[in-house]
Amino acid sequence: MHFLRFLSRRRGVPGLAGSVAVLWMACLGGCGGSQKPAQDDGRIFVVATTTMAADLVREIAGDRAHVVGLMGPGIDPHMYRPLPNDISAMGGARLIVYSGLHLEGKMGSLLEKMSRDGRHVVSLGDSLPKEKLISGDNADEIDPHFWGDILLWSECVSIVVEALSHVDPDGRDAYSLRGDAVRASLGELDTWARARLEAVPAARRILVTSHDAFGYFGRAYGFEVVAVQGISTATEAGLADVTHMIDFVKERSVPAIFVESSVSPAIMNRVSTDTGVKIGGELFSDATGTSEESEVVDGVSWPKSSYQGMMRHNINRIVEALQ
Ligand SMILES: [Zn+2]
Repeated sequence: MHFLRFLSRRRGVPGLAGSVAVLWMACLGGCGGSQKPAQDDGRIFVVATTTMAADLVREIAGDRAHVVGLMGPGIDPHMYRPLPNDISAMGGARLIVYSGLHLEGKMGSLLEKMSRDGRHVVSLGDSLPKEKLISGDNADEIDPHFWGDILLWSECVSIVVEALSHVDPDGRDAYSLRGDAVRASLGELDTWARARLEAVPAARRILVTSHDAFGYFGRAYGFEVVAVQGISTATEAGLADVTHMIDFVKERSVPAIFVESSVSPAIMNRVSTDTGVKIGGELFSDATGTSEESEVVDGVSWPKSSYQGMMRHNINRIVEALQ
């Protein structure tokens, strides 16, 4: 497994923060929102940060919990700054689940405060076995994109079962049963992924994306992963990064490159124009898609707002573009 990283990145003010805020404001009316339930319906109130974490908690909690995800589709968690509504939702939650390993880079101090204030706050990534995690750009960093490896994501099931059971002990058996079903379904997803990805020949297994979000995917499924930006979108790509990427794509005859739903496509569009290599599609790196879209596999429709739909979408786009 070889990871190529371009090191000459320009440190600067992140350009996406403003657009994320605008997108979020536009979403407040009807993108899920972070409001607490209007009345006590007997369910426990749980807040999750990313769309993937919210989906996992919903799958395991079933009808015992009202789960609110703070970040919507297309939202970049690296740059996400919590809004007053989010803070009030977290303040009313029995349980807060976040992805962790500094993915939610602007929320660290707030999550710590929530924990100090007595909320049960659980990080998925920080609860995983350290030896299964990938080092980041610097020695003290860990790559936070662990959901790219389906079996590693599946290890989060027991973390969520335990967290829900901690705040709702009467539901332990129900959470455990649902957790077993989710684990089995993720095992089937992994088996499907491996079989589907066999269509891509070894020489064409190069995944070129905007930011370095597919390291775990590459390790699990045998792809060389190359990105213009590092593991966080907080550091913007500089001219030298783009030039290196253009040279790399030409030298290695990369069949297609990819844009990401939560990152501006500008740089990858430029690489595509300058190299003549097509954009193979839009991948969901750090956020799922919406519930209005679905990925159909063997006649079964998977909403792209779910982890299953997100991964099936990504794998189908990768196979179609690189096979
Ligand atoms: Zn990321």
